Amino acid sequence: MALEIVQFPCLSDNYGYLIQDQKSGIVATIDTPDVEAINDALGQRGWKLDIILNTHHHYDHAGGNLALKDKWNCKIIGPKQEAARIPGIDQQVGDGDVIEIGHAKARIYDTPGHTLGHIVFHFEEDGLAFVGDTVFALGCGRLFEGTPEQMWSSLSKIVTWPENTMLYCAHEYTEANAQFALSVDGDNHALKKRSAEIKVLRAKNTPTVPTRLGDELATNPFLRANRIEMKQALNMEGANDVEVFAEIRKRKDNF
Ligand code: ZN
Ligand code: FE
Repeated sequence: MALEIVQFPCLSDNYGYLIQDQKSGIVATIDTPDVEAINDALGQRGWKLDIILNTHHHYDHAGGNLALKDKWNCKIIGPKQEAARIPGIDQQVGDGDVIEIGHAKARIYDTPGHTLGHIVFHFEEDGLAFVGDTVFALGCGRLFEGTPEQMWSSLSKIVTWPENTMLYCAHEYTEANAQFALSVDGDNHALKKRSAEIKVLRAKNTPTVPTRLGDELATNPFLRANRIEMKQALNMEGANDVEVFAEIRKRKDNF
């Protein structure tokens, strides 16, 4: 694989990620949840930090930007739509832009919903994406700034990617998400099986992230709001996809 990925827990439930293009040695961090943890991960490998990729402006994603830029003089690439809230931003990107980490390429998608300017980074050739707080294993981000329409249309972009795409989410929320998913889609056999597996993994403190897009399509209620089985489970056969998505999101907020 051309990209080496390093994953480490940060704060209470975030994941930090470093990626290195092995050909050029260029290193990037996805978001800056925890300066010390990121510097430790770099130091253990003898790497230096070249690039920060920000998904959105929340403090657990961009809060370490300036300290890391100060230490490494790295370039900060972040969402155009919330550039004013991304400390130290050097390059503003949005839907359709392509950026390079050495020889690796990522296409940017605007995914408003959690925040209005949220972006995700899809490394198509590597079969993986960093999705921040847009999709989680068995969940999706809370709608702090956007509408259900916006989030549904953001998720609708992601579901068109190849099923084997690995999604690197910014938080480990999977066990709680599984409990909620069972409450709205309890007859889904794939979901029941996966929930049992997640329990075992989490009891051993094993990460459940990254997650394969195909598994999310089979089990994540938020990605299934357009499915007749999901509408039937909620007694919403006549409702449109956005209405069903909004109902699932509302139930999760009150769960
Ligand atoms: Zn966030
Ligand atoms: Fe977050």
